[in-house]
Amino acid sequence: MKILLIIGLFFTTTLAMAETIDLRFIVQPHLNDRAKMAKMVGQLNDYFINSQVNLQARLVDVTPLRVEENDPVKIVHAMFNQEGVFAGLQQHNRQVGADYTFMLTDKILHKGKAICGRAYAVNKTLAEIADSRRALAVIHPVCGGHTLAHELGHLMGLNHGALVDRCQPKHGHATALTPYANGFGEGNCDGKPQEGEFGDIMVGGWMGQVMGNDKASLPFFSNAKLRDPRCGESGVCGDPATGDAARVLNEHAHIYANHEQLPSTDGKPALQIEK
Ligand SMILES: [Zn+2]
Repeated sequence: MKILLIIGLFFTTTLAMAETIDLRFIVQPHLNDRAKMAKMVGQLNDYFINSQVNLQARLVDVTPLRVEENDPVKIVHAMFNQEGVFAGLQQHNRQVGADYTFMLTDKILHKGKAICGRAYAVNKTLAEIADSRRALAVIHPVCGGHTLAHELGHLMGLNHGALVDRCQPKHGHATALTPYANGFGEGNCDGKPQEGEFGDIMVGGWMGQVMGNDKASLPFFSNAKLRDPRCGESGVCGDPATGDAARVLNEHAHIYANHEQLPSTDGKPALQIEK
């Protein structure tokens, strides 16, 4: 949230430097290992670099807090409502300058199943991606930086995309901030590996439905300009119309880094220089 530098150069060229997003972790006391959390944030930054995304994350605050609840939906709602142990959450976030808050817990069960994480929501409007109160997620530490990136992606407006939508139709898996704010992959949904099947960070755990291995997703966000031999037969890691998460992240970087500041009403991004 701290620094946004947009430097206009020459006539039409604008050079945008990486925007910094500040992360706060609320952590079960027995998991309070700052080095591990820093490693997850480092992984997230590697994913940004791999995807050509001009964002960098920084760990600004760690709060040990015992949380008894193990339903991730209830946890993110308690965080949103600042109930119980989460009283004063937003005020503390303002004090430390946190743009995004993650509850790190090894007790998360959704419908009786252990899961890696859960975001408060797939934020789908500019107002939602700018709203600090909706910038909340729960993650399981064993799932690491990949889950951190996936859940953060949801908070930043990304969804799972067309491939997951085919595996589980009518669940809105491709409804996102923009039509291209989605994960990207190729394959069928038979749960068996086949030549050319792949999916990115936002396809995430759904790779289990595609090729039987829910850890098989590639370590980057979709990017229509990215070429990588792991991206199927064509080697293209995105689609301009349906899967270009990197474009979304770059276009909205200033909003993620400056929570609560919406673009100015003339449609141009609000220009902020250092605060
Ligand atoms: Zn997801």
